[in-house]
Amino acid sequence: MIAQEHIPPCPEPSLALSLARHDAKVARVARQLRERTSTQPLSLRKRAVSHQVPKPGDRKYSDEKIDVSDLDEILEIDPVSRVCIAEPGVTFVDLVAAALPYGLVPFVVPELRTITIGGAISGCSLESMSFRYGGFHDSCLEYEVITSDGEVLTCTPENEHKLIFHMVHGAFGTLGILSKLKFKLIPAKPFVRLSYETYRTAGDYHAAIAERSGQAEVDFIDGIIHGPDRYVLSVGRFVDHAPYTSRYDGMTAYYETTAKRTEDYFTTPEYFFRYDRGVTNVRPKSRLGRLLLGRFVRSTEILKIGEKIAWALPRENPTLTVDVFIPFSRFNDFMEWYWREFGPFPLWCVPYRPAQRYHWLSDEWYAGLKDEMLVDLAVYGFKGRDGRNYYRMLEGKLQELNGVKTFISFNYYSEEEFWRICHKENHFAVKARTDRRNLFRDLYTKTCLASRGLD
Ligand SMILES: Cc1cc2nc3c(=O)[nH]c(=O)nc-3n(C[C@H](O)[C@H](O)[C@H](O)COP(=O)(O)OP(=O)(O)OC[C@H]3O[C@@H](n4cnc5c(N)ncnc54)[C@H](O)[C@@H]3O)c2cc1C
Repeated sequence: MIAQEHIPPCPEPSLALSLARHDAKVARVARQLRERTSTQPLSLRKRAVSHQVPKPGDRKYSDEKIDVSDLDEILEIDPVSRVCIAEPGVTFVDLVAAALPYGLVPFVVPELRTITIGGAISGCSLESMSFRYGGFHDSCLEYEVITSDGEVLTCTPENEHKLIFHMVHGAFGTLGILSKLKFKLIPAKPFVRLSYETYRTAGDYHAAIAERSGQAEVDFIDGIIHGPDRYVLSVGRFVDHAPYTSRYDGMTAYYETTAKRTEDYFTTPEYFFRYDRGVTNVRPKSRLGRLLLGRFVRSTEILKIGEKIAWALPRENPTLTVDVFIPFSRFNDFMEWYWREFGPFPLWCVPYRPAQRYHWLSDEWYAGLKDEMLVDLAVYGFKGRDGRNYYRMLEGKLQELNGVKTFISFNYYSEEEFWRICHKENHFAVKARTDRRNLFRDLYTKTCLASRGLD
């Protein structure tokens, strides 16, 4: 298996030309939806691999498809207003490659190369600038949405479609098809310097996150919690020059280096995608495997294989891939519980300060939230023991701590529990406008039932 070098699509010199091409693609998708008579559920066919955990029985594999694979162009980067207009299938690796020559990057760059901007809105992507800017959605100004009736809507935070604008965030494609996005970019430098700070207790780590996240000179914060007495905080800055640069696409698993080094330098793209071969679940697992295949096997290839063999993956006690968002003040409580129930398995930690109130989260959930910041703790690659359902254990703990999790993998919430967290009234108000025939399923059915083959 050979990883292909990707040639990023260049933005057209003329916005009018690229917009005309875009409108023709949207007209095709809209026409297909208008003319569709089948009432069977629909899933999207896009060009880049999906970053949803492959699951046996997931209905998306057998659903009828609507093809949006040609919606993957950058339409314009305006270096003066620092605004980009692009189609949803653009991957972050292409976006960074196109924006960096202007000295710009997106506000949030999820750390796997082929996550797309449409997927980042629908699935709530975030990253190491999220302690300051929130999620990718928080940098967006306008969405174009195609309803399941084939109507094309322009949605902004101020116009008559403002609830649609807010609700397609976190909707996992259940409220229509995103077909164009307008979002802000920020100035960047060619290199990133990281320093690794090691703390012995959860309390000291918590205090360090609080302090670092308030410092104007800090551009990036994430970390690896290696064990109950080894909490590493990775604190980064954009810099103009680097004495050397590292890349981790061979034998070395990047996350392990955070426990051994005190600092590191990267080119800016290498920094953004440093976890691309896995976070704490680096593949291949063995040193021999990495020696032979490490350079060629990235997350994209692993996910593609996973999709092909999804039918053969275990239905009971699957390996965990999940991000849990803990209110910052409850971090110590969660860590105490985690070490007791899970044991010494490393976690990826990303502080996250949403830039606005998210309309997809319920009023009840917000009533229980006292913090401005959350901490995303990613459990990637944990294999459960004793037949216990660790996904379900996390869901229980999150309800106790008023946390929330990503719906990218296995979800066992009851319908009642789910709509205590997500905003049922907002979801169905928008659905009545953008998916009258319920072709895209509702959010609970898609993420908790159909994804496990249950609807
Ligand atoms: C192994 C793994 C590692 C991950 N690591 C990170 C990480 O480092 N940082 C991070 O932020 N996130 C991470 N994620 C989560 C990821 O951000 C989300 O899963 C995101 O939604 C993936 O986007 P995608 O482009 O792959 O979209 P897909 O997985 O293809 O789609 C995600 C959802 O969005 C919907 N969708 C996609 N395109 C559109 C569209 N145009 N219109 C409407 N709906 C659409 C799909 O129907 C689907 O329900 C990871 C996920 C996995 C499985």
